[in-house]
Amino acid sequence: SPAEGAQPTASSAAWLERGRAVIPGGVNSPVRAFGAVGGEPRFVVEAEGAVLRDVDGNEYLDLVGSWGPMILGHTHPEVLEAVTAAASRGFSFGTPNPTEVELAEEIVRRIDPVESVRLVNSGTEATMSALRLARGFTGRELVVKFAGNYHGHVDALLASAGSGLATFALPDSAGVPAATAAQTLVLPFNDVPALEAAFAEHGAGVAAVIVEASPGNMGIVPPTPEFEQAMRRLTREHGALLISDEVMTGFRASRTGWLGLSQMGDAPDLFTFGKVVGGGFPVAAFGGRAEVMAQLAPAGPVYQAGTLSGNPVAATAGLTTLRRCTDEVYATLDHAREVITGAVTEAFTAAGIPHRIGRAGTMFSVFLTDAEVTDYASAQQQDTALHARFFHAMLRRGVHLPPSAFEAWFVSAAHTGDVLDRIVEAIHASAREITA
Ligand code: PMP
Repeated sequence: SPAEGAQPTASSAAWLERGRAVIPGGVNSPVRAFGAVGGEPRFVVEAEGAVLRDVDGNEYLDLVGSWGPMILGHTHPEVLEAVTAAASRGFSFGTPNPTEVELAEEIVRRIDPVESVRLVNSGTEATMSALRLARGFTGRELVVKFAGNYHGHVDALLASAGSGLATFALPDSAGVPAATAAQTLVLPFNDVPALEAAFAEHGAGVAAVIVEASPGNMGIVPPTPEFEQAMRRLTREHGALLISDEVMTGFRASRTGWLGLSQMGDAPDLFTFGKVVGGGFPVAAFGGRAEVMAQLAPAGPVYQAGTLSGNPVAATAGLTTLRRCTDEVYATLDHAREVITGAVTEAFTAAGIPHRIGRAGTMFSVFLTDAEVTDYASAQQQDTALHARFFHAMLRRGVHLPPSAFEAWFVSAAHTGDVLDRIVEAIHASAREITA
């Protein structure tokens, strides 16, 4: 069981050194490097339920959940069985296959406004393709995004982007052509007047507004109903499409993602999905009204493709995971959210640590600030140094939080009973430790 006190990390350290020799920073995705919290990222060799096991033999209760996909817990037996069976029938065919159709049907069945959907391999591909489709459909080029919203590492969407860019305090990325950046308008989130002003000035040129359905990449910052309604009204009035990025919230914030909780009224035009939709395998998707999706090749002139898209093994993982995401699973996630955020509020209040809880359905995050968090600027008021200390106090007690103050905490169907008790205990002890 997870021991209190420093864990041995010699093997993780050795792997990091080997990794650094051949992989930039030793990691294949920046936030994994522990850059914001310091110390050694753990090299994990095994995961089951709510538990990660590292190369040094340490065990951690996992609140990262592979950054969202592992909604049923790690290595869920039913998913494992289905994936193993699928793999035994072949890895990739390069032809259409029945499983990809079944996965598309499952998405369309659950998300009412999505009539047609295409499968891709990552959230980045989904948003990139949705943007191209919106531009092809409207014949326009400008894209509106919001500060603190992350949509993957798409050139046009890397400005003020949250997630790793927030963690490492980067305003944007090097290597994005100025001409591409010039096609993106970045606006403050939840700011209706700013959105109205942008449309008043540029409305005729806007192809799409893309928004994280309920942002999770600056911590959880839900949209106000007024903001959601303004996005829908202004895009309609000006002939632009509204793209709801549900890569993180889809099939997680609720059974129907943020859509089921939204107060927008009329639905967005396009949606992007990822994470849960692949159950831990590289699957993502974008979809929407049939009329818009019909613009995609081979039916229409907007090109989009993928050697491994609809891969039968990955699609099996996604399909089995979605089918297993019952109302009971969402009730379990919600209970875990309530228990964990309750413990944070109690422990942090007792220890005098300023904090706010961000919440979107079953999803949540913790902000180390006194101020109300409604946008990127207010999220950045956090005490990130205190977060780093809390992170390590938890890690030493065998609980692995996201290594950044700007990320959601992810729970799963395996976060129940004793797992929750141990997390609650660690929260109380860690809060006391960092204020001692
Ligand atoms: N959109 C959102 C809302 C995301 O949270 C993410 C990833 N965290 C992405 C897009 C990009 O997905 P991927 O990392 O699979 O490319």
